[in-house]
Amino acid sequence: RMAYDDYIKAGKIAGEVRENVRKTDWVGKTVYEICEYVESEIRKRGAKCAFPVNTSINEVAAHYTAEPNDELTITEDDLVKIDLGAQIDGYIADTAVTVCYNPQYDTLVQGAESALNNAMSMMKVGVKSSDVGRTIEKTIKDLGLIPIGNLSGHSLEQYTIHAGRSVPNIWSIGSFTFQEEQAFACEPFVTTGEGLGFVHEGKVKNIFALASRKKTKDKEADEMLDYIWNNFNLLPFALRWLLEKWEEKDARRLLEILVKKKAVHAYPVLVEGNGERVAQAEHTFIPNENGVTITTNP
Ligand code: MN
Ligand code: MN
Repeated sequence: RMAYDDYIKAGKIAGEVRENVRKTDWVGKTVYEICEYVESEIRKRGAKCAFPVNTSINEVAAHYTAEPNDELTITEDDLVKIDLGAQIDGYIADTAVTVCYNPQYDTLVQGAESALNNAMSMMKVGVKSSDVGRTIEKTIKDLGLIPIGNLSGHSLEQYTIHAGRSVPNIWSIGSFTFQEEQAFACEPFVTTGEGLGFVHEGKVKNIFALASRKKTKDKEADEMLDYIWNNFNLLPFALRWLLEKWEEKDARRLLEILVKKKAVHAYPVLVEGNGERVAQAEHTFIPNENGVTITTNP
């Protein structure tokens, strides 16, 4: 079972890198340094990046990655979600850790970790997704915190991060039953008791993915389209990743053309509705008859 072996291999790499990230003091470092470090650690271990490392700070829950030479710097008061992905032949490991240096926010981090652990503990073939959502929600609410209801985990397929099924973070109507041979990511997001418990789209968009391979009739833009397909397939990418081939200003201009022609989709950052801080924890797993294989446990 090649796919299974590749999931395990990608998971081991992503899990190791995540644990190194957890142990590192990032205060005074820029998000650019974090992204470049984490992405190079993934590649060094023989995997490709499944998506640009997300470094989403405080009320930004997800989908922020560093701009080229981004000077945004981590302070002692920041809560930083570092979400990373490794892939082998398109089989993805998706995992995240929240780092923080102010003990005031420890309960948020622990809430996300406990919810993830409780979800993993109950997981096996035959479990209903709505029951997983209920467990995550209850774990978080029992701590006086609020889960982000409109962010969820997801099924994974080759070269596809969001493969159609959602692993909910709250009890919700409509359910499926977990089966063997399918990989999923579980990722509880937690905010404070004052949070809205929902995210909305922010203005910044710096993560992209191919949406269509239809030619734009702009020769240079089409060249970038081919480059994206050949290097990233349908997986997300960042402007930083185009700078091996293009000057920054050319890359920005061509990417803008591709976004305008809808050949490339731009993902907005997701921000907590009341502007409250958000923590996240994430594992990739494959259910089995007795329990679960957490691929991203090193
Ligand atoms: Mn993730
Ligand atoms: Mn995910």
